[in-house]
Amino acid sequence: MTALPLAVHHVRAPALLDLRSEFPAVPPDWAYLDAAATAQKPRAVIEAITRAYAEDYATVHRGVYQRSARMTEAYEAAREAAARFIGARADEVVFVRGATEGINLVAQAWGQDNIGPGDRILLSVLEHHSNIVPWRLLADRTGAAIDVAPLTDDGRIDETALIAALRPETKLVAIAHVSNVLGAIADVARIAAAARAVGARLLVDGCQAAPRLALDVASLGCDFYVFSGHKLYGPTGIGVLWARAGILEAMPPWQGGGGMIEEVRFDRVTFTSVPARFEAGTPHIVGAIGLHAAIDWVRSVGIEAIEAHEAALTEIARAELEAAGARVFGPPRSAGILSFAVGEVHPHDVATILDEAGVAIRAGHHCAQPLMRHLGVPATARASVCAHTTEADIARLVEGVKRVRRIFG
Ligand code: PMP
Repeated sequence: MTALPLAVHHVRAPALLDLRSEFPAVPPDWAYLDAAATAQKPRAVIEAITRAYAEDYATVHRGVYQRSARMTEAYEAAREAAARFIGARADEVVFVRGATEGINLVAQAWGQDNIGPGDRILLSVLEHHSNIVPWRLLADRTGAAIDVAPLTDDGRIDETALIAALRPETKLVAIAHVSNVLGAIADVARIAAAARAVGARLLVDGCQAAPRLALDVASLGCDFYVFSGHKLYGPTGIGVLWARAGILEAMPPWQGGGGMIEEVRFDRVTFTSVPARFEAGTPHIVGAIGLHAAIDWVRSVGIEAIEAHEAALTEIARAELEAAGARVFGPPRSAGILSFAVGEVHPHDVATILDEAGVAIRAGHHCAQPLMRHLGVPATARASVCAHTTEADIARLVEGVKRVRRIFG
């Protein structure tokens, strides 16, 4: 339950990382290019989870015995690590199941007191369904309206148009930091300044940014930031909702149960302080410990090194996919994620043929149906790189795409 020792990693020219041997579930001849869906786990994370169950396990926050006290310390140390990772304070960090739950928490708890008839919520065309559906539910419940910012021709959020769409009635802007389909990176600080000027709050869906960009919520200037542990080399079932100091305190609880109360009577309940007020029930203790190990692992590699590694591989992949005749969607600079089409071949056929060649990609609408409509396609093929991706994985992808073209003429 102590912090993991910082490992030494070898950097290959030009700034490519060599981490494959740390991922036991990724054999050398398998190109796992679906990290944007969920990341494989480094050994350090698997071992931390095993140790937590095999040696250290007990509940948190309740037991007076030493084992439980140590587990509570480990759980709270994970919160501190998550806070440090995004430049925040631990009491501003709520553990949730993942980004989806974090956004739903804000929509329900914050939304209940802050959104009413005539208010407006501003999203963008490229949002993941988990950053659309909770707001649609909230709008339907409250009589609020949803506005949608368009994209630039190359598939980024059109920030100028988004800012122009802000109105005095806009109470919330909710956008993805990095698109899970196009890898487009939003200028969060610019949007935050404009949102603040009209008194709107800004929620950032950081699911695809947390594993690949250095984060500092203070300089981003947003009010809420969410991400999932499983895309950050950690376990499923654990994620982070960060909210600016003061906002959480003002929010009503969203789920009731043990661990979030001060005093319970049948006619009156008082609640404990934040962030525990938003964590009803026995939390995902080992999930938090696994997330801590993942954050330590990412820090030991260096998030800047991961960013540079992914940028280099993405550039190579884009150029070689285009040379192989694929159409790559999205802006020239994308963070680790490339959506593409091979002629008129259905993305599911592309993914099936690639699978036969030992390449795992995602094919489908990627939980972004409005974006698919905007692109004029029912689905795309998507390859995403991560810290353990190699040039050989990209070569395998490109060879597979050439094979698709041969098969379909
Ligand atoms: N937002 C984005 C941009 C995502 O990529 C995802 C996961 N595909 C989510 C939200 C939802 O994350 P989770 O399923 O872990 O809650």
